[in-house]
Amino acid sequence: MAGQGHEQRRRLVLVAAPFQGHINPLLQLSAVLHSKGFFITIVHTQFNSPDPSNYPEFNFLFIQDGLSDHDIASLDLTAIVLVLNDKCQLPFQECLARLVKEQETRDDRIACVIYDELAYFSEATARNLKLPSIIFRTSNANTFLARSVIIEMHVQGRFPLADPLSQKAVLEHPPLRQRDLPISSFGPIENFFKLIGNARDVRRSSAIVYNTMDCLEGSSIAKLQQHCHVPIFAIGPIHKIVPAPSCSLLEEDTNCMSWLDRQALNSVIYVSPGSLASINEKDILEMAWGLANSKQPFLWVVRPGSVHGSERVESLPEGFTEIVGEKGRVVRWAPQKEVLAHNAVGGFWSHCGWNSLLESISEGVPLICRPSFGDQKVTARYVSQVWRVGLHLEDELERGEIESVIRRLMADREGDEMRQRAMDLKEKAELCIRTGGSSSGSLNKLVGLIKSFEQ
Ligand code: UDP
Repeated sequence: MAGQGHEQRRRLVLVAAPFQGHINPLLQLSAVLHSKGFFITIVHTQFNSPDPSNYPEFNFLFIQDGLSDHDIASLDLTAIVLVLNDKCQLPFQECLARLVKEQETRDDRIACVIYDELAYFSEATARNLKLPSIIFRTSNANTFLARSVIIEMHVQGRFPLADPLSQKAVLEHPPLRQRDLPISSFGPIENFFKLIGNARDVRRSSAIVYNTMDCLEGSSIAKLQQHCHVPIFAIGPIHKIVPAPSCSLLEEDTNCMSWLDRQALNSVIYVSPGSLASINEKDILEMAWGLANSKQPFLWVVRPGSVHGSERVESLPEGFTEIVGEKGRVVRWAPQKEVLAHNAVGGFWSHCGWNSLLESISEGVPLICRPSFGDQKVTARYVSQVWRVGLHLEDELERGEIESVIRRLMADREGDEMRQRAMDLKEKAELCIRTGGSSSGSLNKLVGLIKSFEQ
């Protein structure tokens, strides 16, 4: 019984933001905290709601987000996040108040609320109910710092940029150039500033958790901490701490795994634009022929909606899959973590979403970076210039250039050297989460902080 000599297990309420690149790390963080002895409740919106079946030990609760089909079809991503934060506050207040009441009579009182930085409505609700809260940032420390530069430029009247593709160095944040600044390409710029302003506001939260680690961003994490009045815990790569089942919003095509089994060591280039980025029809044709002409085996994710104005493979050149034959596979959605861990995969053409980057370096896979927007541009710059584990494909997509960049990564000495550096980073990342490592130490401190809330 509670309070009779043994430690009570407390419940954590984790609030998700409704995007694949946010749901994955939040569920991974939940799995980690569950392994540390906490009960878990996941609160999510109806829009892009995760499938709870892979997590029977968690309690999933959805809140009415008030988004209509028309909103989802017509609003840009920034506007969706702003609307959700307006509309979710009241339903979350009711949901959390009910939970608190239920828990009063039980053994698993709520210790705190951990919320995705994009679900910032959560903090006021937690505070109203006298619960501590913690922010979870699913992107990297350098993006956060670069956003501060953008805000400063805006204040000084240097924003919007005269030339968004400018190669000019950002003196406040080397090695970024102005073109690498993490600017959203969605909706009016005022909405972008409103969103990053709200998301970066710590409010009265007690701590901030980042899915990053010292071996990648040590000095930037330290810099963030200097300017922040609450503790920052960099505990990544979270997906490597404990195994967490898939939580894909789209069905994973697992048939590609047996195809990978038939390919030679490090021979396959895996290509994926993540869950949000999209390209135009001309670019997809150049990519298709660049991949085919490279003669390198490839596994390519062409997600529904990832080609403007098309629903998928129909936009590939006629007869493409027949011409490519056994040499290539095109899927709608891949089991990405497993794909990257397969020893046939020797390179990753990526949009440089932060989860994709962590998953790639955790397996020692070097990259071809083709970022689209936001933090992807920062990550791509760090991949090519700082960690030197990939090539940045910056110019207009053209099949000859694509063929040559794939060769450089997959067949040349330059690529071997990047693969070696990626393997070194893999080892360093493993050390970070091992006992005595920086992420492991931060995780212990985080757990200690949460337990200190329990009094
Ligand atoms: N992902 C996947 N299968 C795919 C493509 C992506 O499972 O075919 C997963 C990937 O492993 C990652 C997430 O979707 O965890 C994408 O997050 P990321 O931060 O890389 O990019 P975003 O989608 O947010 O742009």
